[in-house]
Amino acid sequence: MTSDAVARDVAPFAMTIGGEPVATEQTFGVINPATGEVFAESPDCTAEQLDLAVDAATQAFRQWSRDEDRRRRAVLACADVIEAHAEQLAALRTREQGMVLKDSLRFARRWPARIRDFATIPIPVEVVQDDDVARVELRRRPLGVVAAIAPWNFPVLLAMAKVVNALIAGNTVVLKPSPYTPLTTLRIGELLCDVLPPGVLNVVAGGDDLGSLLTHHPGVSKISFTGSVEAGLQVAAAAAKDLKRVTLELGGNDAAIVLDDVDVDRVTDALIDQITFNCGQVCIAVKRVYVHEHVYPALVEALAERAGSLRLGDGMDPDTDMGPLCNAMQVERVTELVDDAKAAGGQAVTGGQRPARPGYFYPATIVTNVSDGVRLVDEEQFGPVLPVMPFADVEDAVRRANATTYGLGGSVWSADTARATEVASQLECGVAWVNRHTRTDYRVPMGGWKSSGIGVERGVQGLD
Ligand code: NAD
Repeated sequence: MTSDAVARDVAPFAMTIGGEPVATEQTFGVINPATGEVFAESPDCTAEQLDLAVDAATQAFRQWSRDEDRRRRAVLACADVIEAHAEQLAALRTREQGMVLKDSLRFARRWPARIRDFATIPIPVEVVQDDDVARVELRRRPLGVVAAIAPWNFPVLLAMAKVVNALIAGNTVVLKPSPYTPLTTLRIGELLCDVLPPGVLNVVAGGDDLGSLLTHHPGVSKISFTGSVEAGLQVAAAAAKDLKRVTLELGGNDAAIVLDDVDVDRVTDALIDQITFNCGQVCIAVKRVYVHEHVYPALVEALAERAGSLRLGDGMDPDTDMGPLCNAMQVERVTELVDDAKAAGGQAVTGGQRPARPGYFYPATIVTNVSDGVRLVDEEQFGPVLPVMPFADVEDAVRRANATTYGLGGSVWSADTARATEVASQLECGVAWVNRHTRTDYRVPMGGWKSSGIGVERGVQGLD
């Protein structure tokens, strides 16, 4: 599908408020990261329209919260509609976010199954006492209007996880996508107008200021936020003012610890996937690697060779292995961190230089000769760059992996699963994997430790 077809097929983009498409006089440009140029306009929500959206969600809550079976049927119908439009949504996501189309399509085709899985998770009534004195039941009740605020790296997956959690539990939603990637979410809002009762899901678009207005809104009972730690702290402060419930899914700096007995080819494939899939812009991607010194030289060589052979290009082009980063801010941040590492003595054994072409491209980059204390190792790069560091002693690797304010994910790689599991159990993070990283679905609860978040989303724990 060409960019014209994508734009013509869905433009002009409207917000969804009270079950109706709503346009605005004010708009902002959405940039195609492959060209660096504006390719469509997004509506820009005013404060008055935000009030209308919260009011609509408040009105809809009364009926919506009462009938669990009806909610589940409606959410299953949402999955059907999204499935019927998967190709259009995938192409739109590639245009606005950069992910290569084959991955966008794979994801778009997976959303419906994930929504269906989630829609069938029961909301249990727990009996906490049942004896001669009393019978006491623990019943989970919906809260009211949930403000769902999403980032740009997985605009639909993360937003829909919030929406489906909230809707199944009986809440209504005002959803705000990132200003970098509003279009796919707006389109889903339009499509679901015909499926959900008016006001149950409202989609508004705008910048960080709109997010702030939403988190301060007195009509909102709960905030479900995914984004950076910096913004998460502001969201938590806004929620504290009137004790709104809050779930925060924030940044990470996941470590992978590679033990001395691994199959180097297998680990190479997996680590290359970590930096190329969505250009490394994944909250739970490997962002630093500690490798036992026995396998370190072989792994670095294999990583450099594989990373160096990848073709950069527009995500819509089927020959592309890795698309652009999502936005100018992100490619500048990655460039800054790699340059800082080089200035500190680090060596980019492949990549390490922004190509001279339009768009927000950065090559897959492997950096050696760096250690803890260098920004590329200590901070979240959120891009296709991996610092790879040797270790001699596993305890030392675990200590270094844990010496961070982040605690989102981590992994341990070994031919001996029991040994790897034991090491993984020492990682201070929300999800620790053995011989894999990143994979999860809506049935599995996700949450961060330390600055990486509060609360969990997905799974029965997400409903709680
Ligand atoms: P961001 O924090 O800049 O923005 C996220 C969303 O919050 C956007 O919609 C933005 O407009 C809004 N926002 C910004 N400031 C706000 C404020 N003060 N009040 C309310 N809303 C505000 O994050 P980003 O750059 O879009 O996303 C990248 C970050 O998200 C990375 O740190 C990544 O690790 C993190 N992330 C975490 C998870 C997770 O599950 N833990 C998943 C994906 C991304």
